[in-house]
Amino acid sequence: MTRAFNFNAGPAAIPLEVLQQAQEQFVDYHGAGMSIMEMSHRSALYEQVNNEAQSLLRELYGVPDNYRILFLQGGASTQFAMIPLNLVRPGRPGAYVKTGAWADKAIKEAKLVGETVIAASTESDKYMRMPTAEEIVIPDNAAYLHVTSNETIGGTQFFDFPQAGNVPLIADMSSDILSRPVDVSKFGLIYAGAQKNLGPSGVTVVIARDDLIAESPTTIPTMFRYSTHASNNSLYNTPPSFAVYMVSLVLNWIKGKGGIAQMDQFNRDKTKLIYDKIDQSSGFYIGCAQPQSRSLMNITFRIHSEELEKQFIKESEKEGFVGLKGHRDVGGLRASTYNAVPLESCQALAQFMADFQKRNG
Ligand code: PMP
Repeated sequence: MTRAFNFNAGPAAIPLEVLQQAQEQFVDYHGAGMSIMEMSHRSALYEQVNNEAQSLLRELYGVPDNYRILFLQGGASTQFAMIPLNLVRPGRPGAYVKTGAWADKAIKEAKLVGETVIAASTESDKYMRMPTAEEIVIPDNAAYLHVTSNETIGGTQFFDFPQAGNVPLIADMSSDILSRPVDVSKFGLIYAGAQKNLGPSGVTVVIARDDLIAESPTTIPTMFRYSTHASNNSLYNTPPSFAVYMVSLVLNWIKGKGGIAQMDQFNRDKTKLIYDKIDQSSGFYIGCAQPQSRSLMNITFRIHSEELEKQFIKESEKEGFVGLKGHRDVGGLRASTYNAVPLESCQALAQFMADFQKRNG
């Protein structure tokens, strides 16, 4: 069996060990005579999966007791709407840090729901960096401050989260959840689609402080209220059971690797191989993000000619690399190096980059 050098941005690489474990349990889950997919979500076996995924996440991420972990559907994009629907009130706007394509989508959605304030923007720098703490102005009456922890398209990442004081900090961690240690107690709410660092698409993880989600407005539809899901242990309606099961396997895999601090070191080692190739290329490769904001998850870079970029992608595909084309909105090249991307893939990419430059530099 040959596995591709998978640099997809999402859905993305899943650890081979996890896929193999799922394969072993696929047809007959723990002697039940059926797959987990065929089982009632009210069964004891599924309840165990649901609870284990939560407790592993709690353990690995150090989620305090006064936080709830929810498994929802609709992707991170639905959270763009659910957050303001649940938390924005008259005279209490949602404040947003505008750092790129994903923050922008969150803002557009929030504007449909209620009052929205831009607390900072790096648009004038073409979103190639994250703002500094001094640049972020948070109104006292804000219902929350929303940041995009990692901009998947631009390739920028927050390394110092803003201090929001009494204003709850909300983070879209879709593309960097569990990739590095974070102090969850500094956040009011964290959310992420699973399809990058947590497993397959289909489930969205929300980690939220109790008091923020205890009382959702009863004027919004039942499925959009956090309180509905919190009070039903994410079993109000039929959950994406197979996706939650896969997340539990991925969490076990991370635990087996030593946890989040190890993931962080591993991700730093992997990305260094590629950023070094960019920096040592005498300008053949051009990194997009400013160095202080360079993402450890999505490495965005260019070559001086679009023709060469096309050639780079074509030749890389022939050699087993997948997903190196930049997002269609920005072009260029992008390597997504989530937790499950093996070191060997990054070593192979670094070598390919060096060889490509030698041939075309
Ligand atoms: N936020 C970020 C940072 C993302 O990268 C993505 C998906 N690429 C989304 C939100 C949207 O996620 P979904 O497709 O799960 O709605």
